[in-house]
Amino acid sequence: MNEYKGIWIIGEQKEGIIQSITYELLARALELKGSRAHEISIVIFGNIHDAELKKIRNVNADYLLQINDRRVDYFLPEPYANILYDLVQKRRPEIIIGGATSSGRTIMPLVATRCRTGLTADCTKLEFEEKTGHLLQSRPAIGGNIMATIKCADNRPQMATVRPKSFSSKLKTSEKILEIITMVPEEKLFSSSVKRIKFTPISENSSNIQESDVIAAGGRGLKKKENFKLINRLAALLGGCAGATRDAVDRGWAAYPQQIGLSGKTVSPKLYFCAGVSGSVQHLAGIKTAANIIAVNNDCEAQIFKIADLGIAADLFELLPLLIEKIEKSRKSVNDKNFSGAEHE
Ligand SMILES: Cc1cc2nc3c(=O)[nH]c(=O)nc-3n(C[C@H](O)[C@H](O)[C@H](O)COP(=O)(O)OP(=O)(O)OC[C@H]3O[C@@H](n4cnc5c(N)ncnc54)[C@H](O)[C@@H]3O)c2cc1C
Repeated sequence: MNEYKGIWIIGEQKEGIIQSITYELLARALELKGSRAHEISIVIFGNIHDAELKKIRNVNADYLLQINDRRVDYFLPEPYANILYDLVQKRRPEIIIGGATSSGRTIMPLVATRCRTGLTADCTKLEFEEKTGHLLQSRPAIGGNIMATIKCADNRPQMATVRPKSFSSKLKTSEKILEIITMVPEEKLFSSSVKRIKFTPISENSSNIQESDVIAAGGRGLKKKENFKLINRLAALLGGCAGATRDAVDRGWAAYPQQIGLSGKTVSPKLYFCAGVSGSVQHLAGIKTAANIIAVNNDCEAQIFKIADLGIAADLFELLPLLIEKIEKSRKSVNDKNFSGAEHE
């Protein structure tokens, strides 16, 4: 096992832009490295814009292993997994950390199986075991009621996926300059039985939920689908995205990509506003890193009030229409002022 060295993170790009999950994984790897000396490599498939390469140059990592080939600009499971497996065989990393994103959740198990090693999915905490140096991989288990810590003692590499937005992506710049190594995989590794035809986002409301600074979310307290319009309207007025609990999604009031929580998405907005949401452990698992939580619930004992920065004990059907009206009026008066100001100029 001694021949395995270094930490790899599987970065992601979209249209040449490095995605925030890359920086989150890097922040994780740097924190891990803090306790032991490890080289950090970022693996990225596809072309990256020069400006993006500049941004990632001084992030304190050692290598960028770039598969700079147009055929992998977009995610395709077979070529990605073939190439990653081939790189692992040649360069032998000790640890590989990927995002618990659609692509990470697809290729990491494929590669782990081929390497005959273990993989812990959806980790929220990673650390080294003091005595052995094994990677301790922790994640919520049994419906979010306990934290399970898993290690892969006998096989290498040790592999884990990490939930997006479960860690800060803020990084300090350093003097060290990343060495870019362009990898040229063998032709046969690009073969794929899947062809990308086009990209269609599932829903406009949900497409950016993990990147959004403001989220208005609704739960079963909204009673029926038509009432979910209140949440959609509020989200639009606040310039954010609409989110939902699993109950609301199961009832068809919102789409699955809008689901927040253990079996949905983890979000990290500046403002998380929710109404008719009880605050189950599974839902709370998705909003732990939200900066400010405002909750409306007509039950003063609701769990959500235990973590809310501002809790409003009220009937949402009275409060939300009033709030929406108030915001609409204040927006209108700002617009009117701007308009009359322009007339007098
Ligand atoms: C393995 C597993 C994974 C899960 N994953 C997720 C997940 O990812 N996300 C998730 O959300 N859940 C998840 N769940 C489900 C979770 O356990 C809860 O069932 C769910 O979060 C409850 O959703 P809710 O808050 O909308 O509904 P409820 O718990 O029924 O809460 C509705 C709330 O609305 C309030 N209310 C009712 N009427 C009004 C009114 N007029 N005005 C104001 N408030 C009102 C009530 O007081 C209540 O607190 C998971 C469960 C399991 C077992």
